[in-house]
Amino acid sequence: MATRADERPIGAPVTDLPGVGPGTAAKLDRLGIETLGDLILHLPFRYQDRTRSVPFNELEPGKSCLVTGRIMASNVTFGRRRSLLIRLGDGLGTLTIRMFHFSRSQERSMQPGSWMRCFGDVRIGPTGPEMVHPEYRLHRDEPPPAPSELTPVYPATLGLTSARIRTWVAVALERCHYVVASSLADMPFADLMEAIRFLHAPSNDTGRIDAARERVVLDELTGHYLVMRRRQALLKRQSTIALPSGPKLGRRLLRQLGFRLTRAQAKATGEVLEDLAKERPMIRLLQGDVGSGKTVVAAFAAIRAAERGCQTAIMAPTEILAEQHFETLSGWLVPLGIGVGLLTGRQGVPERRARLTAIRDGGDLVAVGTHALFQTGVEFHRLALAIIDEQHRFGVHQRMQLRDKGRLPHQLVMTATPIPRTLTMALYADMDVSTIDELPPGRLPVRTHGAAMSRRGEVIDRVRNWCAMGRQGYWVCTTIEEDEETELNAAESVYAELSGAMPGLHFGLIHGRLPQAEKNAVMAGFKAGEIHILVATTVIEVGVDVPNASVMVIDNAERLGLAQLHQLRGRVGRGSIQATCILLYETPLSAVARERLAVMRDTNDGFKIAEKDLELRGPGDILGTRQTGEETFRLADLGIDRHLLPRAVALGNRLLAEDEATAQTIIDTWGRRDAEYAAV
Ligand code: ADP
Ligand code: MG
Repeated sequence: MATRADERPIGAPVTDLPGVGPGTAAKLDRLGIETLGDLILHLPFRYQDRTRSVPFNELEPGKSCLVTGRIMASNVTFGRRRSLLIRLGDGLGTLTIRMFHFSRSQERSMQPGSWMRCFGDVRIGPTGPEMVHPEYRLHRDEPPPAPSELTPVYPATLGLTSARIRTWVAVALERCHYVVASSLADMPFADLMEAIRFLHAPSNDTGRIDAARERVVLDELTGHYLVMRRRQALLKRQSTIALPSGPKLGRRLLRQLGFRLTRAQAKATGEVLEDLAKERPMIRLLQGDVGSGKTVVAAFAAIRAAERGCQTAIMAPTEILAEQHFETLSGWLVPLGIGVGLLTGRQGVPERRARLTAIRDGGDLVAVGTHALFQTGVEFHRLALAIIDEQHRFGVHQRMQLRDKGRLPHQLVMTATPIPRTLTMALYADMDVSTIDELPPGRLPVRTHGAAMSRRGEVIDRVRNWCAMGRQGYWVCTTIEEDEETELNAAESVYAELSGAMPGLHFGLIHGRLPQAEKNAVMAGFKAGEIHILVATTVIEVGVDVPNASVMVIDNAERLGLAQLHQLRGRVGRGSIQATCILLYETPLSAVARERLAVMRDTNDGFKIAEKDLELRGPGDILGTRQTGEETFRLADLGIDRHLLPRAVALGNRLLAEDEATAQTIIDTWGRRDAEYAAV
């Protein structure tokens, strides 16, 4: 047991532990472990059962187990490979230990009569059961009874075994035993530390392990919620440029739009404008299915800022989408006298310089762009509003970066990925939410069919007939690798294939690598109806809006996830023509792929699809954390643990109201990773 003097604070670096030098610290760092607290919270992902020493007559091949026996013989053989063979006996049977790598001293230590305890995989060798290179320990006398706890297996990394980690965790637990101790009276493990200790060395009791894990996960989710709530509270105390109603340019746009806002659009717009009128920065999530008309809500917000001489930055995840927003918004705003500019990473130097100047002197009141907008060197004259489109494509960190830019602007985050309410509540607790829950009138749901690749010829014929009758559409190419290059190759060969198969029709090819001028020309040709079929990579996934397009074929649809399929399909069915989507798939289909395609056939409802998606693959993808390689949680896995979210929210709220001290303890425990999210 450590003495008081050995005790270390939870935040102490791992190098404070005896035997952990800079080399080991660097390896631990790869696992995200910097402090003793990190080490303690590095929980096992499974366990080995070493609680029972298995008699040699009960060994089962293919299983790993603990064994104990006496050395009967030990010799080196020179067969195909030089090996050390140790024969163990336990009175009930024999077991051979086989080693290919061994030292002289190892060889000499294997004295007949000594006891050996091993843990390893059993297999059947030439002379009966054997273990190859098990973990082992020699004993002069009969070894002590097997441990009564399960042995934890930790996430390990190159050059750092789970066993080494196990030792350090044990030391860390000893050195800072008073830390991370939120206490919740009504839980199976009232004291968090008790649950953590148990998980590092549990008894063989699955029920208790689950309860302890749940206790820790609940703490972590509550911690995340509390950090979000705290951030919201901090935001409420900040002030930014208030944007009260001005010369009513919005009314002019409303008259010029050519359509009437849906009830849901009007409501969302009202909520946004009300937020903007306040000094407290808006942080609002606008969610609405693909095609529900979020862009126009953004336009009203930008107009409000412009009326006050303030700027709006609109960030889109792809160049194509940025360009399209630029066009749409220019069409709406320039007639009102509001300057709109486009800034992307692919612009030439003179163009970029001109834009930067216009953004700096306020000539561009609305700046549309990719993430290039938020790179250093972009200085705004008077930025009051940041709009982030298709937020699922960006990570939480990128959302945060915006806050670093000068004064905190109002923020509107738009997403077409409907996030189930339980998730929004807990994970985006710092945001207010507006939902557009209806599509513009007159939209016919897209009809979706699946077709096996063997029917490709038939599909081509059908598409040709449709296009001959004046319809337009997309042919989307996918590849297994998420690699622009291979996707481009696939798209080029499909382009050649289709042009050959459908003489007389006009084709366009669009992908992320196309120079901007060509991209614009192709999109313009498609919009004008000169191009019948746009062969595209998945770059068109987000946001592209050509209402006349009513046919979509997705090649190798089995490769895509539900969210992506839904986004792609959202490119058609935007006009009043009945749209069709054909999902071409390679056989045989995996069970999950079959289910995905069935969901696509059965529903157009983004919320249903999102729920199903969550079920099929967990929310990391839905929330974009996986795409951006961000780890939000140490232990919680929302695919498994999301049923705990409502409890975490309720618990968090209760603690905020009744027990600030415990709330603070939980934030301190889990907060280090969340701290940067909390910084405003
Ligand atoms: P998303 O929510 O997917 O971003 P968009 O803003 O791109 O949707 O809108 C999709 C299409 O619907 C656009 O062509 C837009 O002009 C049109 N649209 C938006 N609102 C309405 C409406 N209330 N009535 C008719 N068409 C609308
Ligand atoms: Mg959009």
